[in-house]
Amino acid sequence: MAGANGSSEKHEGFEVPKVEVKFTKLFINGQFVDAVSGKTFETRDPRTGEVITRIAEGDKADIDLAVKAAREAFDNGPWPRMTGYERGRILHRFADLIDQHIEELAILDTVDAGKLFMVGKLRDIPGAAHLLRYYAGAADKIHGATLKMSQRMQAYTLKEPVGVVGHIVPWNYPSTMFFFKVSPALAAAGCTVVVKPAEQTPLSALFYAHLAKEAGVPDGVLNVVPGFGPTAGAAVASHMDIDKLSFTGSTEVGRLVMEAAAKSNLKPVSLELGGKSPVIVFDDADVDMAVNLVNFATYTNKVDKDQYEKVLKYINLGQREGATLVTGGKPCGDKGYYIEPTIFTDVKDDMTIAQDEIFGPVMSLIKFKTVEEAIQKANNTRYGLAAGIVTKNIDIANTVSRSIRAGVIWINCYFAFDPDAPFGGYKMSGFGKDMGMDALEKYLQTKTVATPLYNTPWL
Ligand code: ADP
Repeated sequence: MAGANGSSEKHEGFEVPKVEVKFTKLFINGQFVDAVSGKTFETRDPRTGEVITRIAEGDKADIDLAVKAAREAFDNGPWPRMTGYERGRILHRFADLIDQHIEELAILDTVDAGKLFMVGKLRDIPGAAHLLRYYAGAADKIHGATLKMSQRMQAYTLKEPVGVVGHIVPWNYPSTMFFFKVSPALAAAGCTVVVKPAEQTPLSALFYAHLAKEAGVPDGVLNVVPGFGPTAGAAVASHMDIDKLSFTGSTEVGRLVMEAAAKSNLKPVSLELGGKSPVIVFDDADVDMAVNLVNFATYTNKVDKDQYEKVLKYINLGQREGATLVTGGKPCGDKGYYIEPTIFTDVKDDMTIAQDEIFGPVMSLIKFKTVEEAIQKANNTRYGLAAGIVTKNIDIANTVSRSIRAGVIWINCYFAFDPDAPFGGYKMSGFGKDMGMDALEKYLQTKTVATPLYNTPWL
């Protein structure tokens, strides 16, 4: 595997490219610039704990500059004024440039987020280009409606861009989350954006900013300001000149950003928050498939340093609350933030490990006897992000899908994502969808235009 020192080696038979970090400054108004404070911060490789490089540390002053640039680009620049077709063409070029740099981008997410290189190369980075193309194609297909009003009037609706959008993104899928947010905002609606990537994973976001400029995205339209949550993130959430906020992260911080939005300019907020997504395996299920799916659902993604510490606390708590630790439960390896695959049985609904999101390799097994009980247990959390159902019985699958209060249901599959499939939570998992045509709505607002028909006196 390639290390932060730039060495390269084979990984599972694939040559992994050398790590080369080209962009370490803030991207504001089409330029890479130092932070106003001159400060920088370390970004680390979670596989080893080693420092990869230092990144300019944005805070309120830099967010102010980025918002000023985005405001100017929205109010007076070409981006919202060009046709959807022209915007789409630029974004298609952006997607083509991503395709040309797949390996370079994948290795950045590997060192920054601990992602498997092949997952980045085969899924996350091509998926980012796919998202861009999906919305590039939608850019010239934004329609309002024609209204037949009850009086002798005619009216129509215009779908207009919401304005300057603030995006606050997490570390767990740096490339995917960036394009969940940025592509519908830029492509379809002609908004301008300020992105605050997670402090753990700024590298690929800065590379994407560079590619956007090369593709012809005008200066000020896409700004990327790495920095910390309570400084740069909070400045985005409370900014008076940001018209819309889209956030993905923890429920705790989601609450803070919503409060900040409410206390500033009442900007609308979309939140994609935590989850506690059950996989319900019925007794007719193909057992091999079920095992593969629950393993995939539980052990797929990666953990950073903070989560590593939290996960170990939850494992300890699970044991104290009386669940049986069947396997795992300990850190592993002599560097990085690795934890053994962990399985608990005898888990009760009200235990913390059955209620709280655990962002790590911990499976909690809960038994049920009837379909009704399965539904009741699946709904017995404050979250509602997703759920899996494993059964061959179509009646059960249909009934349970309708009864679970979650934004996504995967039947005999898991993590079945596609640009055309809206993703987002119910309940305390948030509101407002990423992906699909639904995501466009977050970045549009509807204007009604009414006029009397010919020879109709109005007053
Ligand atoms: P996670 O637990 O997935 O790391 P967080 O909610 O802590 O999620 O972080 C998600 C994003 O929110 C990151 O970009 C982080 O910097 C940002 N963030 C953290 N605290 C705040 C805050 N007080 N205001 C705004 N953004 C924040």
